[in-house]
Amino acid sequence: MEKIKMTTPLVEMDGDEMTRILWKMIKDELLLPFVDLKTEYYDLGLEHRNATDDQVTIDSAEATKKYGVAVKCATITPNAARMKEYTLKEMWKSPNGTIRAILDGTVFRAPIVVKGIEPCVKNWKKPITIARHAYGDVYKGSEMKIPGAGKAEIVFTGEDGTEIRELIHNFTGSGIVQGMHNLNSSITSFAKSCFNYALDTKQDLWFATKDTISKKYDHTFKDIFQEIFDAEYADKFEKAGITYFYTLIDDAVARVMKSEGGYIWACKNYDGDVMSDMVSSAFGSLAMMTSVLVSPEGNYEYEAAHGTVQRHYYKHLKGEETSTNSVATIFAWTGALRKRGELDNNTELQKFADKLEKATIATIENGTMTKDLALITTLKDVNVVNSQNFILAIRKTLEEML
Ligand code: NAP
Ligand code: MG
Repeated sequence: MEKIKMTTPLVEMDGDEMTRILWKMIKDELLLPFVDLKTEYYDLGLEHRNATDDQVTIDSAEATKKYGVAVKCATITPNAARMKEYTLKEMWKSPNGTIRAILDGTVFRAPIVVKGIEPCVKNWKKPITIARHAYGDVYKGSEMKIPGAGKAEIVFTGEDGTEIRELIHNFTGSGIVQGMHNLNSSITSFAKSCFNYALDTKQDLWFATKDTISKKYDHTFKDIFQEIFDAEYADKFEKAGITYFYTLIDDAVARVMKSEGGYIWACKNYDGDVMSDMVSSAFGSLAMMTSVLVSPEGNYEYEAAHGTVQRHYYKHLKGEETSTNSVATIFAWTGALRKRGELDNNTELQKFADKLEKATIATIENGTMTKDLALITTLKDVNVVNSQNFILAIRKTLEEML
């Protein structure tokens, strides 16, 4: 069989620990035998980030802007323990944070649904994609402990010196206050990324805030979404046969629980943080959750939602067998290859991505899976395999399909 050709390279961001091991296995067994893979390679492994003073992360994000599509392996976000372990020059920032700041993107997380791994919510049949606004609010808040009686105010001082004041509270005793902000430009980017991704994936878009209580802050989110939708997207949504739907966050939560799934739920920063953990655990496993960063200009960076699976890596280093699930990392590759294929009008590449996903799902549904899934599956008599044999089993299914 002749290998599938690519015209434009993908930006490949390699990573750390167990996922770095899986990365190579996926390339060797599932991609390179079938695709004449063209990538521009960036090593985001912690050692190389440290050696380049993290310049490699910035370069990889700039390359994503140039080519439009990237695929990323999970990476270590350094903490004090990692500083020692890798003798780092600095506690480098989270690569995901750096990339997101450069692309100004929104992260969409969606579960991979397979028969035999049933969601806890029995009526959920299709994936629910969570879009989390990743700027501001409580994550960039400033806080104060109020020691005793006194007046707390919010003050805005314009560049010309004019002040706007708003009373927070007349304290009669001790308490707490918090100030937070957001930017119209950031909310606009968030809205555009959501509308574009809904069109891209042909799914309805839901958005919810607490605008009835927060009449200026949350209401601004609601208004910006509506203005952009009416001006730029209403016609496109109608043509695509999808809808945009705004509701109060309480109502959204109730409707989500009763729904079948199959839509994108856009959330403010805090709601997205909490709800994405709820949705992913209800769907079964973090190892079955994909993630894509979409910029308002239409650049895409695909990855798995989980981390580097450190505990398994240490077992692997000791020569012990691991049963690490590579599904989300495989789907990061297929997502990127399919998008590359769409942008380049390369139908062979798109078809290959579809088939690799089908082969992965079929392998699990036929009873071969890693330990994490074996623990939660409703299938009987499953064949639990190690990290490598799982990938080899997918290869066998794929070869039968091709
Ligand atoms: P993690 O790598 O997601 O793993 C946490 C636990 O979840 C694992 O120990 C394992 O449970 C289970 N798990 C996760 N992915 C799995 C998979 N593919 N197959 C089987 N089991 C899986 O989170 P972490 O241990 O908190 O973080 C490790 C490193 O990853 C940290 O340095 C963190 O900075 C980094 N991280 C990176 C990203 C990213 O690049 N996007 C995201 C999150 C975390 P058992 O041990 O019980 O088997
Ligand atoms: Mg969280």
